[in-house]
Amino acid sequence: MKVFKFGGASVKDAEAIRNVGSILLRFEHEPVLVVVSAMGKTTNKLEACLSYLLAQDQLNYYHTVDELRDFHVDIAGELFHDEHRKVFTFIDDLFEQLKNKFEKPLAEQRSFEYDQVVSLGEVLSSFIINEYVLEHGLKSEWLDARRLIRTDNHYQEANVNWEKSEALITARLETSIHNTNTYITQGFIGHTAEGFTTTLGREGSDYSAAIFAFCTNASEVTIWKDVPGMLNADPKYFENTQLLSQISYREAIELAYFGASVIHPKTIKPLQNKGIPLFVKSFLAPDEPGTTIQSEGGNDHLIPSFIVKKNQVLITISSADFSFINEDALAKIFEIFYSNRIKINLMQNSALNFSVLVDGDKVHMESLLGKLSPTFKCKYNEGVELVTIRHYNQSTINQMISGRDVLLEQRSRQTARFVIR
Ligand code: ASP
Ligand code: MG
Repeated sequence: MKVFKFGGASVKDAEAIRNVGSILLRFEHEPVLVVVSAMGKTTNKLEACLSYLLAQDQLNYYHTVDELRDFHVDIAGELFHDEHRKVFTFIDDLFEQLKNKFEKPLAEQRSFEYDQVVSLGEVLSSFIINEYVLEHGLKSEWLDARRLIRTDNHYQEANVNWEKSEALITARLETSIHNTNTYITQGFIGHTAEGFTTTLGREGSDYSAAIFAFCTNASEVTIWKDVPGMLNADPKYFENTQLLSQISYREAIELAYFGASVIHPKTIKPLQNKGIPLFVKSFLAPDEPGTTIQSEGGNDHLIPSFIVKKNQVLITISSADFSFINEDALAKIFEIFYSNRIKINLMQNSALNFSVLVDGDKVHMESLLGKLSPTFKCKYNEGVELVTIRHYNQSTINQMISGRDVLLEQRSRQTARFVIR
């Protein structure tokens, strides 16, 4: 089995979906399991719906739900004839149910409601795409990841139960219709033992592809992107980017961890554990080789990579009474970050200070400071950038930081990191 993943940009409109169909037709004679994301910006829109729902803002809720329904109906209208009632009925029913949610009592837990609402984008896209490829001659089946990927009930960032998922997926594939070669399913979503829908964290569809690959012992995974493969820098901000044609799992995990947004950081581990190679290729140029990620690391050092994370907040924490930031104080600080689900992008300590860097758009500073303030004093700088250079040398460092104000720096043998403004 091969596993393919198509992200939101690759299914953003009717033309993009036709292109996905043409790629899948190339593989019509071999088993392929296809994981798709929600179309275009659907997930963001569903997040907006959820906010209106929680705020009990009926006008905006209905308006946003309708916009999203029209978006899907328009795409379906371009892909199918009116007679293809199955797709239009599916879309109508799903949005009808979403609308009706407004009248119903809400669960106390926000993250539970999040998962029930925001998971729907993938359900829609996978259904539409499956019907589309069926019409174009592929022997395809729709798989419901809400029956196959088993997770705990850590809503919005659920943890996978590997054994259960493997058993469920294997059993489901055994019952598949004779002759099926293509399976289309959803990224990003799973379910709890009680049957409630969960999500795996934003941008989690890559991870879903890795979960399906792990559970089916796939021969390879391909992530189809709108870039030629993994590049050594984000082409949105850098000229003359270079393709990393062969890198190791380790290198890919480091790059993803430092913020290269090409693949979700959780994707690599399950693939590495089973030695399943990962290809990152362009859906616009499917014949190009793209990037291969596997165990061999001989080429990792050849090309320096540059990763810039903007909109960071550098927080410096010190004890209120001039005592050391010792292990006890660190444990308290980590507990606050952990329980508030705030990820730390970089940290550094001295006798009296502990500095951490966090994503500005994911942290509510006032509430965080409120939690730290009884025990600690805090200072912070907003709007700073984190620059990471893998396989650096002096000239690459100069290129990135000259003329900038460096607030903090860290170097290991492979990696140099700078907080700059
Ligand atoms: N649709 C989800 C998101 O936008 C998952 C994904 O695309 O990977 O976060
Ligand atoms: Mg995506």
